[in-house]
Amino acid sequence: MALCVEASEVVEIFQWKEIDDLLSETEKEMLKQEIGDILIYLIEISDKFDIDVIDAASYKIGLNENKYPAELVRGKMNKYTGYE
Ligand SMILES: [Mg+2]
Repeated sequence: MALCVEASEVVEIFQWKEIDDLLSETEKEMLKQEIGDILIYLIEISDKFDIDVIDAASYKIGLNENKYPAELVRGKMNKYTGYE
């Protein structure tokens, strides 16, 4: 639950902004702190279940590469079922 709250705090920083909008120094500081909060919770959860966080990320990237082949999805934002 705390992880969701921390993720929401990241979203809050970007609420009402366009993706390319720059962040103020204050917002960057807030983002840094929230990313730290999230990573701490992820590491705690990973440790509890004996999961290597870097291995998990690499594994998921591999799965996504298969699910979303670059030649099919580049420049699009459809769910994977939209490419079948
Ligand atoms: Mg926080």
